Amino acid sequence: MINDKDILSALEKVNYPGFSRNIVSFGLVKSISLDENDVEVLIELATKDPAIPQKIHNDSQESINSIPGIGNVKINLEIKNPPEQVNENGIGQSSLPGVKNIIAVASGKGGVGKSTVAANIAVALSQTDNNLNVGLCDCDLYGPSIPLMFGQESARPMATDENEIIPIEAHGIKLMSMGFLLDDNSPVIVRGPLATRYTQQFLKGCMWGELDYLILDLPPGTGDIQLTIAQSVSVDGAVIVTTPQEMALIDARKATSMFAKVNVPIIGIIENMSYFQCPSDGEKYPIFGEGGGEREAARLGVPLIGQIPIEMPTREAGDSGHPVALGDSITAKEFKNIADKIISSLS
Ligand code: ADP
Repeated sequence: MINDKDILSALEKVNYPGFSRNIVSFGLVKSISLDENDVEVLIELATKDPAIPQKIHNDSQESINSIPGIGNVKINLEIKNPPEQVNENGIGQSSLPGVKNIIAVASGKGGVGKSTVAANIAVALSQTDNNLNVGLCDCDLYGPSIPLMFGQESARPMATDENEIIPIEAHGIKLMSMGFLLDDNSPVIVRGPLATRYTQQFLKGCMWGELDYLILDLPPGTGDIQLTIAQSVSVDGAVIVTTPQEMALIDARKATSMFAKVNVPIIGIIENMSYFQCPSDGEKYPIFGEGGGEREAARLGVPLIGQIPIEMPTREAGDSGHPVALGDSITAKEFKNIADKIISSLS
């Protein structure tokens, strides 16, 4: 006799197109009803891309059909528009009340300086002339580094009577991070559906208030959290961080194509650790190779919106809780340029 578990196991073999995770673990399977060996399944999706429901429908049908003894299979798809509102100017507004723009900062690989770039973009945006209100949501549940970068490792957020999390505020930026919920040495054990729930709570259960920009520091790669975000809020644009060497560029390409699949426009590529400028002779050394970011941007047809040198002050600033963009060094100015480019690309 076929039961719900057999159907679920079959659906667990169906990956969301473009992702390595299956539709069950994303919580997209809403109901399964069995009548003897006939089955009817309801799958809920939020997408504007007609190819995605089609593929999920076909893959689900095929996978369930392969269960021995299965009868009639009916797959119902309920397709919601991805969260989005359009204001009177026709410009998309984020689906978080009070938040005007949501920007994802992503990378294909870990360790390329994505969180450093996300933190400094947030600071640079907040320091532009028009007093922008900025939030930074650390969606890297497995390796949260935003608390350290803002000197807030021991901060613990409070909640309102309505159970909304009140973000921590530092250097004028509203912050939320898994790091605020963990003791220093506790392992991060959130996986699968729990990771989805945390991500949604950080985005929707946080009292972000009125923000001009909410920056999302995504985990590296193209996994479940990225899809959860794309399904939960309307991301206005993504910035891809890479280092100049080929290995990082290959992964940056994957991150870029993932955003294309979920209809998030790429604002541009930022090349981090582009060069080292020797303090004694002023010479620039391209430690990780030269021109990688520029070549990749041209190949993907997106702009290269910044090149950040590798230097001790940037690392020290991150470790000491004062992002380098708070100062007025060459690197701080480069982050301000990047902030200007982000603002103009979204306006
Ligand atoms: P990711 O988020 O990609 O894993 P991080 O932003 O956490 O990377 O950076 C990893 C380490 O590299 C951190 O110690 C950070 O201070 C350092 N780092 C990042 N960018 C630079 C840079 N341009 N110059 C020097 N150190 C950097």
